[in-house]
Amino acid sequence: MKLTFMGTAGARFMVAKQLAASGGLYIEDGSTRMSLDPGPGAVVQYAKRKVDLTKLDAIVLSHRHLDHAGDVNVMVEAMTEGGFHRRGRLFCPSDALDDDPVVLRYLRQFPQEVVRLEPEKEYAVNGLSFTTTPLHVHQVETFGFRFGDRLGWVTDSAYYDGIAEQHKAEVMVIHLVLMQCRTGLPHLCLEDVERIIRDARPRLAIITHFGMTVWRAHPWEVAEDLTQRIGSEVKAARDGMSLEL
Ligand SMILES: [Zn+2]
Repeated sequence: MKLTFMGTAGARFMVAKQLAASGGLYIEDGSTRMSLDPGPGAVVQYAKRKVDLTKLDAIVLSHRHLDHAGDVNVMVEAMTEGGFHRRGRLFCPSDALDDDPVVLRYLRQFPQEVVRLEPEKEYAVNGLSFTTTPLHVHQVETFGFRFGDRLGWVTDSAYYDGIAEQHKAEVMVIHLVLMQCRTGLPHLCLEDVERIIRDARPRLAIITHFGMTVWRAHPWEVAEDLTQRIGSEVKAARDGMSLEL
């Protein structure tokens, strides 16, 4: 499985200023290709890296916030060749489709299937299976994901008991938005991320989805610091970074 970071920016100010890209994650496993959380500019990031979006098998939204779903419509059009070729699947929480939908109604017929995600359920795309976690603690319906024991993806959430166990995998991608924990902001801060890594003990933890305070602290230095303190490898994602899992 190959994982590519099409962006590492999280939250509104980083995204608005495009201090880092906000295209989400791209997974290739055998012949299966999946786009996760295509935020604003995702289509540009994929084009820049010469990914043929007509070969995409699925688009997955962890939740409906703009920094995760900004380019979902253009990505659906790209996957389905402008809607002329009915193919691929879109997985998203129900609230991305219902009130004030982020997925436009006119293009919901374009993919082969639009799947409403449910907690703790297994899904498969061309033999690549993934499971959703219980609902995260966030302002909207939000899921985390596991791709077997290979990859755990800790998306936006406030810290809660069980979060480490639910995403535990050999490699864990964790959204680090805040340096300081702030009550009322349902996002992971540095202390939360450290706790998750200590509890889950992945072979490799990759921090991404940086908010402004993390960016100012230099994510690679934050990662180095975590590695020293925890004693297992923590890496900061960079735009365009790829790794084989
Ligand atoms: Zn969010």
